[in-house]
Amino acid sequence: MRCLMCGKTIGENSLRELLAGDDLLCEECRNGWHRTGKRFTVDGVKAYAEYAYDGGFRDCLLQFKECGDEALRDVFLYTCKDRFRRKYRGWTLVLMPSSPQNLERRGFSHLQEIFACVRMPMLEVFTKTDTAIQKELTYEERQQMKEHIILKEGAVIPKKVLLCDDVYTTGATIRGALRALQGIPCQKQIYTLSAVEKTLP
Ligand SMILES: [Zn+2]
Repeated sequence: MRCLMCGKTIGENSLRELLAGDDLLCEECRNGWHRTGKRFTVDGVKAYAEYAYDGGFRDCLLQFKECGDEALRDVFLYTCKDRFRRKYRGWTLVLMPSSPQNLERRGFSHLQEIFACVRMPMLEVFTKTDTAIQKELTYEERQQMKEHIILKEGAVIPKKVLLCDDVYTTGATIRGALRALQGIPCQKQIYTLSAVEKTLP
């Protein structure tokens, strides 16, 4: 089997790699991901970030999201899915929304693909109504964007909501989601696959 990122044959580098099972990345590429396990809070809600949004992780996520390399879908939670399932047993994964433009451009919901491997209840209850692409916005504009996340009509909110995202940058999206849930009785936690270290609270 060849590594999905560098194309090297997996199992040739070391015994550990050979024993690592069915990982779709080689040891060298894995080592380029920086596991941080950061705990923080967003408006009083507990949050957890698995990786730093840099290096190999970022390359891989961009390859998946922007180049549409769907084969990569299972690599993101590969080393953490068992722990994830134990930690969040009883919670429902509530995915952050993509803008309609991004969804159409990609042709797939990247978060749905990434989180499918944990095989837990998953919902998409939010819609994003903005028309701009986030990374082209200024900080202030992103702050305003939190106004634009709303609940889908008729959305049923579970008792334990785990808000899931791939990258935490300014927190505007998560705050928008928290705001949309205001007044709805439910427990909330946040899980992000990665976070831009310098913007963490
Ligand atoms: Zn590799």
